[in-house]
Amino acid sequence: MNVADSERIGSALSTVGFEESDDIFDSNVTIVNSCVVRQSSEDKVTAKLDQLSKHKNNEQKNKTIVLMGCMVGPKTDGLEERFPEVDLFLQPQNYEPLINLLYEQKGIDKEGCLSNLDIKPRISSFVPVSHGCDKFCSYCIIPYRRGREISRPIPVIVEEVKKLSDKGVKEVTLLGQNVDSYGFDLSEDINLADLFEAVHEVNGIERIRFLTSHPMDMDIRIIESIANLPKVCKSINLPFQSGSNKILENMRRGYTREDYFELINVIRDKIPNVAMSADAIVGFCGETESDFEDTIDLMKVIKFDKLHTAIYSERKGTIAHRKMKDDVLMADKQRRYKVLNDEQEKIQAELNSKYLGEVNNVMIEGKKRGKIFGRNEQDKLIYVDNLNLNEGEMVDVKIDYVGPWAMKGKVISYVNQA
Ligand code: SF4
Repeated sequence: MNVADSERIGSALSTVGFEESDDIFDSNVTIVNSCVVRQSSEDKVTAKLDQLSKHKNNEQKNKTIVLMGCMVGPKTDGLEERFPEVDLFLQPQNYEPLINLLYEQKGIDKEGCLSNLDIKPRISSFVPVSHGCDKFCSYCIIPYRRGREISRPIPVIVEEVKKLSDKGVKEVTLLGQNVDSYGFDLSEDINLADLFEAVHEVNGIERIRFLTSHPMDMDIRIIESIANLPKVCKSINLPFQSGSNKILENMRRGYTREDYFELINVIRDKIPNVAMSADAIVGFCGETESDFEDTIDLMKVIKFDKLHTAIYSERKGTIAHRKMKDDVLMADKQRRYKVLNDEQEKIQAELNSKYLGEVNNVMIEGKKRGKIFGRNEQDKLIYVDNLNLNEGEMVDVKIDYVGPWAMKGKVISYVNQA
């Protein structure tokens, strides 16, 4: 979501004549887009702001520093005191004050720059479809910083996807903090399945992905539309966070481990070739060894293709911070984190081994360490032997190497040229 926000603000600024700079100290305007989902992310932002403030005081007094993103809440007094060198504090998606400030400071012509976003497209681009979240999980700061959930209307999203397609984009990832509740605020009859159908009609778009799902809101219509619409990738990220019912209740996730198992069964029944990924947190308040064992048990039974893992860290302002005790020792959190990741690596190696010898359709995304790579529909990273392929080309690849994190293969046919 932050990458998508940065792309949008970058686009608005390039429309009015700014150029992107690689050097944050050399630029006239530096915008720090903050993520505070974990303490370590916030610490990085603070360190960057300290460096920028020092540079401004010593060498570039007329530099404009902007802090945007989730670190900025509705009240900014505390931040203003802490970072006096910062010129502006912007809440997520609230770009207008920045354009107004630059209009005042630099005399830019701001007409139309926010309404005609001219995003520099990548072959696979993000499209925010909703902002904010209404769930209020007890550990999460997002609803307080990004606000209540607001969905963008389907025609507006489709128009944006068409523009991206005209510029050569082949894959879009529809983004929402809780993408499965897309449309709840628009009308009782609209949900993510309707959005999938509308985006599916856009010529030139070959693949549609979506992030992030919530077990409470992924209904049968959404599941069936993923199964039935060929462009919607059979790859679902469905965070479970903990395998323990006690911890799930304390996290205020709204489902039990039994509900989660049932949902996975429905998904796998309707979409047999689906790749499942998930998010899990270890060391949440009150997590005992037995609660952690429940998490290990759940991930071993389900066998996720990918698991994003995190150590719980307290976030000021959340329900957990106000009402619960962060009582798991850091040494235990770290040990559990390692056990979880070690188990996941074994599972990924096992699941990926089934791809050996298979032919997969791969969309080329770029070059890494001198090698061309792309992804299959299940979001698996695949390196290919042909160095002459360009971004966006679709090729059939025969897999001849599999590892837990990536695969390799030979291009055996070209599906289309970029
Ligand atoms: S659903 Fe996701 S974004 Fe919303 S409160 Fe829960 S963890 Fe945070």
